Amino acid sequence: MSQAELTLFNPINKPLAGKVAVVTGGSRGIGAAIAKVLAKNGAYVVINYQLRMDCAKAVVKEIEEQGGFSCAIQSDVSKPNDVKNLIEEVIKRYGQIDILINNAGITRDRTFRKLSNEEWGEVIDVNLNSVFYTTSEVINHMLEQNYGRIINISSIIGQAGGFGQTNYAASKAGIIGLTKSLALETAKNGITVNSVCPGFIETEMVEEMPENVRENIVSKIPMKRLGKTDEIAEAVLFLIQANYITGQSINVNGGLYM
Ligand code: NAD
Repeated sequence: MSQAELTLFNPINKPLAGKVAVVTGGSRGIGAAIAKVLAKNGAYVVINYQLRMDCAKAVVKEIEEQGGFSCAIQSDVSKPNDVKNLIEEVIKRYGQIDILINNAGITRDRTFRKLSNEEWGEVIDVNLNSVFYTTSEVINHMLEQNYGRIINISSIIGQAGGFGQTNYAASKAGIIGLTKSLALETAKNGITVNSVCPGFIETEMVEEMPENVRENIVSKIPMKRLGKTDEIAEAVLFLIQANYITGQSINVNGGLYM
């Protein structure tokens, strides 16, 4: 599909009309909220999912019912060959990638002394190595078109640390360092690279915490509530439209970490 055809699909002048976005882990939680906001603003959104085709299809359906354009593509982003196939498929179908949202993430919480090599490796593979794999596959396309927006979803835990989360914290802090370094390398080529650091957001990841732990967290948040997935999506949209912001980490955490 050409740029002109993509724009034609969005006759109403929306800010992201004609842009192709890929959201990793977009079938639920924060990723699904980002996918919906980008589609609402005119982007053609590719929702990557690992296992839950039903959830991914449900997000696509919701976007289409609201007049947006979307599709779902399966890929395990912790596997370089899977990622290669994902990006090749996107380029084959749409001819371009303008926006990459590295959102897929997992936790395998365990205090450090009990943490296994597998639990360390799995989290680093899914949360950090995946960002390298996806970005490596899209960067040449973005350089060729002299435009790109890369948003990496980090976490407050990457900034402040988290008990029982050395693996997760290392992966999320790694994302912040990768973001700044890549931003330096690509700033003159029309590409911005930023990260968003959510605090504690109302998703299945947080719902899985024991209730007393969750209540304790909420009591420490200056705004006295968990964040909403839409509030992360709005920060992502802002960064996509901001032409002079790169290498930054935007905190969306209700004031929990400043
Ligand atoms: P979630 O578990 O609801 O969503 C994570 C998504 O990533 C799921 O769709 C899952 O299928 C996908 N995923 C996991 N492994 C994958 C793989 N190998 N390949 C492709 N997709 C894969 O969690 P969420 O809360 O929506 O988290 C989204 C992102 O935000 C994550 O990176 C998470 O670390 C980060 N984050 C979340 C919170 C929070 O409070 N929920 C806070 C800070 C940061």
